[in-house]
Amino acid sequence: MITVIRIGHRPFRDKRITTHVALVARTFGADNILVDEKDETLEETVNKVTENFGGNFSIKSGINWKKEFKDFKGVKVNLSMYGINVDDRIGEIKEAAMDKDMIILVGAEKVPIDAYNIADYNIAIGNQPHSEVSALAIFLDRFYGGKELRKKYEGKMNVIPMDHGKLVKFIPDEQQCMKILYEEKANERIIDHVTTVYKLAMAIGNYAHADMKLIQAGSLLHDIGRTKTNGIGHAVAGADILREKNIDEAVVKIVEKHTGAGILPDEARSMGLPDRDYIPETLEEKIVAQADNLVSGKKIVTLNDTVERYELKGLKEPAERIKKLHKELSEICGKDLDEIAKEVQ
Ligand code: SAM
Repeated sequence: MITVIRIGHRPFRDKRITTHVALVARTFGADNILVDEKDETLEETVNKVTENFGGNFSIKSGINWKKEFKDFKGVKVNLSMYGINVDDRIGEIKEAAMDKDMIILVGAEKVPIDAYNIADYNIAIGNQPHSEVSALAIFLDRFYGGKELRKKYEGKMNVIPMDHGKLVKFIPDEQQCMKILYEEKANERIIDHVTTVYKLAMAIGNYAHADMKLIQAGSLLHDIGRTKTNGIGHAVAGADILREKNIDEAVVKIVEKHTGAGILPDEARSMGLPDRDYIPETLEEKIVAQADNLVSGKKIVTLNDTVERYELKGLKEPAERIKKLHKELSEICGKDLDEIAKEVQ
């Protein structure tokens, strides 16, 4: 666990640079930041970035820096142009922090002498004056040896690296999903149906400790393709609409794989579907598919109702797969999905 402590923050003057200190802390591998002066706007800005781009970074402002720094249990580093060159101490610090937490102090203006005396290490990123932002970035980068820059974040917005241009894929929230549905001219029948699937999927998701952002977007958008076709190809049509809109692949895949309990490659070929993977694999893909199986129109039905409907159509194998999926998810939830469904009605 790595904490950054920012001292001397003046809300009226340092808002931008302290925000940058916090964003560098987050991106370069720290877990949280403490800021001495209370600054709610700063907290909001940083929390918004974490909410959008993911991770568990946290911020707290309005703390007693000397007490926090002094009482910290672990390795204490003060970044200062007056310290020892980072390369002469980083090995020792890595070793010391192997089984301990670490706190890294950066100042704004003149840093009180107490910080130098309390610290286990006064570390310089060169002995010339520059900035707390660069000092923190270089220190953390030396500490992690660059590994922190490859960390995967599961946020609402996910950057897709590319040589040219820029691309951000995003997981739409409830409001954005409804906007997309209306943009695509989803009719009342679709809206009623997806709203019921959404309620059931969210209930199952809660029991299963699934990623609720994905369940929300996946269930609300699963039938967006019905604005183009009501046939078996509606899941593919939906996935294509969402890819066009730069929706995160995790959501697109939920939509693409939501038919029944998945479609096997041979079945897909015989139905004339494009050659793609239609078997739900992630927990969220499975939950949305099965929630959809348990909703007919806007009515929640039982597993038996659905299985009967499939069997009447001669779809024996798909019916078996639905039963299997139901059992698997009921086990994960610790409760039969039919029982969870009763709580939703
Ligand atoms: N001269 C000020 C002092 O007496 O501490 C430093 C103010 S400086 C603008 C703000 C912060 O940037 C410092 O507290 C330190 O954390 C960081 N900093 C600036 N230059 C640095 C360097 N060469 N090495 C390490 N940290 C540095």
